[in-house]
Order: sequence, then C-alpha cells, then structure tokens
Amino acid sequence: MRSNIVAGNWKMNKDAGGTEALLSELKSILPQTSVSVMVAPPFVNLAAASSQLAGVAVEVAAQNMHFADSGAYTGEVSADMLLSIGVETVILGHSERRAYFKEDDEMLSKKVVQAVQKGMRVIFCFGEELDDRKAGNHFKVVEDQLKNALFSLPETAWKQLILAYEPVWAIGTGETASPQQAQEMHAFIRQLVRQAYSEKVAESVSILYGGSVKPGNAAEIFSKPDVDGGLIGGASLVAEDFVAIVNAFE
Ligand code: PEP
Repeated sequence: MRSNIVAGNWKMNKDAGGTEALLSELKSILPQTSVSVMVAPPFVNLAAASSQLAGVAVEVAAQNMHFADSGAYTGEVSADMLLSIGVETVILGHSERRAYFKEDDEMLSKKVVQAVQKGMRVIFCFGEELDDRKAGNHFKVVEDQLKNALFSLPETAWKQLILAYEPVWAIGTGETASPQQAQEMHAFIRQLVRQAYSEKVAESVSILYGGSVKPGNAAEIFSKPDVDGGLIGGASLVAEDFVAIVNAFE
C-alpha cells in the first residue's frame, strides 16, 4: 500500500533562529501519526534541522540539488553533500525553480537520475500553467513533463519517487484546484505510470497535490482516492496549520 505523505516546502523562509523555533513548535504539537511528515527548510538550515529532528518521525528534505557529483558549479549543492548531513530526500522540479531558474525537463531528468543513483528519495513536482488549463492542454503538458523527466528511468527507480502535481496557477495564489480537478488529474497521472511501467508501480507511487492547501480544504482534497497527500508551501510555515493538514488524514 502506498504511503500518505505531507511535506512542507519552506522555500526561502526562516533563518537559523526561525527554523529552530518552528521545528520545536512542530515537535511539541505533532501527534503520533501514520502519515509520513517531511519538512524542507532552506539549505543553510538543513544540518541544524537534521540534528534537531534526530529521533523524531519528521524527515528533512532539500528544496533542490545539482546533477553533478562535485566541481565548478558556484553556489550549488550536491547529493553527497546532502547525504553527508543526513538529508536523503530532495524536492526537484518545483515550478519556482522552473520559472525563475530556467530548470527544464532535460536538466530535471539529469537531477532525478543523480538523486536516484545516490539512493535519495525524490519529490518530483510538475503541473500546468493557467494558460495551459484554459486552453485545455493541461493533460498534455503534464504527460510531457512526466515523460521527459521520468519515464526513461528503470522500474526499480520508482521506489524512490514521490510525485507532486502542482498546478502553477494554484501555488501561493490562494486558488486551489477543486478536489474533483485534483482527483481527475491524479487518476490520469496514475494511468500514465500504469501504461509506462506496471500496475504495481502505479498503485505504489504516492501522488501528492500542491497548491494553496490549507487546514480548511485539506481533508476534502486528501479524501480523493488518488490523492496521497500534499506538498504544502505557505501553510507549512505555521506549525498549527501544518499539523492540522497532517491530521486531515485521520
Ligand atoms: C508549493 O510551493 O509547493 C506550494 C504548494 O505552495 P502553496 O501551498 O503556498 O500554494
């Protein structure tokens, strides 16, 4: 059976003190849960977050990484660097990385291959822009993003993948895909995986929804059969809200 996952993407928020404070609040109010909980603070706070969460059932993830082992890539961070501080999960393909840092499917495919080869778990983000949806191209856009970045991977790699469907028009906008829109797209994605790989892979991969998930809408979105959790931006910066979203499964 696939896991239910709630992952918080903190983006470029929280300095060292803010990270410590948010994690301590989170630790104090997070109940025992069957949901896999993850947080992705900024790079500079990952090592501290990892130590602070040692022995706690909250996994620390990075928001990005480079595809090379090491070398002349000023400002970048490698898989081995992340692993050396206990970070085994990385978010790749976030729409902000695609839009502001020009990360395309080709680059993302290299990053995914590197993360998989290094034994890391990848939360792979993808999703259509508003214009794509208005034009009725959203299924095609999503299909291409998945094919280009993921469908050349061997079936064995899929144990390390988590998919995060994030319609760009719903990220940080307060606009959420309706639970029906999310379910429709998630079922489509699962079918693509089924066709490209197998029933087993399709049924075991977790597909998260991301885009303005809040305590007030999480339960209905998570109740859909093909929605296995959420990637949470803004609401992950408030411990109470993040925990309420985790609890939306129960
Ligand atoms: C995100 O950045 O992945 C995200 C879903 O953000 P928000 O929840 O703020 O829309």
